Amino acid sequence: MATEAKAWGTDGPGEKLKPMTVERRSLRPEDVAIQISHCGICHSDVHFAHNDWGMSLYPMVPGHEIVGTVSEVGQSVTRYQAGDRVAVGCLVDSCLACGECGAGHEQFCAEMPTFTYSAPDRQSGEVTQGGYSDRIIVREEFVCRFPDSLDMARGAPLLCAGITTYSPLKRFGVGPGQKVGVAGLGGLGHMGVKLAAAMGASVTMITTSAAKGEDARALGAHDVLLSTDAAALASAANRFDFILNTIPVTHNVAPYLDLLKPNGVMVIVGAIDELPGLHGGALVMRNRVIAGSLIGGLPETQEMLDFCAEHQILPEVETIRIDQVNEAWERMQKGDVRYRFVIDMASLAE
Ligand SMILES: [Zn+2]
Ligand SMILES: [Zn+2]
Repeated sequence: MATEAKAWGTDGPGEKLKPMTVERRSLRPEDVAIQISHCGICHSDVHFAHNDWGMSLYPMVPGHEIVGTVSEVGQSVTRYQAGDRVAVGCLVDSCLACGECGAGHEQFCAEMPTFTYSAPDRQSGEVTQGGYSDRIIVREEFVCRFPDSLDMARGAPLLCAGITTYSPLKRFGVGPGQKVGVAGLGGLGHMGVKLAAAMGASVTMITTSAAKGEDARALGAHDVLLSTDAAALASAANRFDFILNTIPVTHNVAPYLDLLKPNGVMVIVGAIDELPGLHGGALVMRNRVIAGSLIGGLPETQEMLDFCAEHQILPEVETIRIDQVNEAWERMQKGDVRYRFVIDMASLAE
């Protein structure tokens, strides 16, 4: 039997978030029921609430950086039992039969993966509702183990910001002896700095702001390059093996490409937008690569959580109560957060 869950969500674009009740489906054999302890706030939550990508379904409960504890499992679940610490990211289902799903790249499912919120459930057609809630039900293939040694409040943003930055660093083999630049210091950029440093690379924060450069050093960056300083940029030409570009808005990529060594790679993870300044010569003359990257599949998300446990890498967060969520969204849109808001879901019960 379906049950009601407490949540905060929105009725339409431009509407504020408010308390609401959502139905959680009755447990299917493959399902895991999760009591949510914390949920991170991602920029995508705001984009979806505002229907910026034209695919939003309302009413909508956002949230895809979810950690919690298993409360109940369906009869065919083998990996989890009640009491286990678990996590759910951006995806809750996919076809599990296509080549991409078979390779563990469920984010590229040929039949489109099911997003954690604002997407039709593959079996019932009901709209999925996300993690700004006390409970969620997800099939076991889309649930990750949340390592015992990771703090649940601080760890929640790993499920989107963490995997989004870990995946391209791994894909291009970032490691010791390499020079890595991270452009942009927000939710993604600060994880990029921590992860690249933990992988053994020499990390440079590339930023417009000297103050942000100092913040990045505190997070583990070894050097700072001011993108507003033309002389500094010129002297850094051909310096980097890899640049993680987390700048969230459209920008001229030419100055960044010039910083790459021959065969160097720049990966875009922030801007879903046109990128002016892309000239074939900047690529051809140095064998440079420009690429994009979208979250990661389930096996890699688990690998990332285990890597973060081993190296004790945790996001910097500001924990809030659920009734502070509208204010948090406003502050995040102004860049006024270091570096991720996390909602303490215990506040939903009060
Ligand atoms: Zn996200
Ligand atoms: Zn598939």
